[in-house]
Amino acid sequence: MVQTFPTMRLRRLRRSQVMRDLLAENTVTLNDLIYPIFVEEDLDDFAPVDSMPGVFRIPERKLDVAIKEIAAAGIKAVMTFGVSHNKDDTGSDAWNRDGLLARMIKRAKDAAPELMLISDTCFCEYTTHGHCGVIHDGDVHNDHTIENLGRQAVVAAEAGADMIAPSSMMDGQVHAIRSALDSHGLGAVPIMAYSSKFASAFYGPFRDAAGCELKGDRKAYQMNPMNGREALRESGADEAEGADMLMVKPAMPYLDVLTQIRQRSLLPLAAYQVSGEYAMIKFAAAAGAIDEARVMRESLGAIKRAGADLILTYFAMDIARDGF
Ligand SMILES: [Zn+2]
Repeated sequence: MVQTFPTMRLRRLRRSQVMRDLLAENTVTLNDLIYPIFVEEDLDDFAPVDSMPGVFRIPERKLDVAIKEIAAAGIKAVMTFGVSHNKDDTGSDAWNRDGLLARMIKRAKDAAPELMLISDTCFCEYTTHGHCGVIHDGDVHNDHTIENLGRQAVVAAEAGADMIAPSSMMDGQVHAIRSALDSHGLGAVPIMAYSSKFASAFYGPFRDAAGCELKGDRKAYQMNPMNGREALRESGADEAEGADMLMVKPAMPYLDVLTQIRQRSLLPLAAYQVSGEYAMIKFAAAAGAIDEARVMRESLGAIKRAGADLILTYFAMDIARDGF
């Protein structure tokens, strides 16, 4: 029989901090976090990203120093984004064996081999137009782009990337990358698919950080923020194509999507707390409106509670330094 008041008193279990700690259903540790980093070529000093307080573009030539610091802080995994000075209309530097993407992966893995390196796999930081692939007749050409994604993934994995994370939202991208990796003897390299990536306004500060040249928008390939069922189809497709892990991006405005995918898939699930989510917390705290540390913990805890196994967050270093 279901107890009710006055027998049932839920406040009994909230009486002390020890009790609350013992009964916490979720927590966040460094084992849950992936730290996204921006690496820029031909840059001398760490460059602050104005729209993301506390985030810096790392100069390629100082990447080893930064990576050693990140590993020493206890971070387990990073996701790498290149800030390219060698852009063209296809983003070919991203599959050039001497290009920024390959160089930064090698340098980071040499500096801290134990740090898991997940390579964001897309073209928007490497194209002059800022779109995530090859443009034909004013639109990103799906099938040419996924061929190029396969090339990029092979170069990244051969340079030492531990995981490939395709983020361009092309149809068939997971299949194309899996086939390319497998045919190059890289069958052991897993794929974390950005399976539900929305055409979100929360990415604003990232474009600043990544030096993206995009004019227009990505609504013809990223998902409509109004849609939830479509995210389930995208996730199902990626799983069927061989994804080892799924992702929802952004995180906090899409917790319902995260929960629904968690209920339908047995794959590990990641969520990306994006630049705009981070910036809102930082700027609101700087304005005195909220307590930064508490809101950060609450936001990450909510993402875990909604179903994420892993969280990509710019707060990772803060947590490594100060605890959760
Ligand atoms: Zn992209």
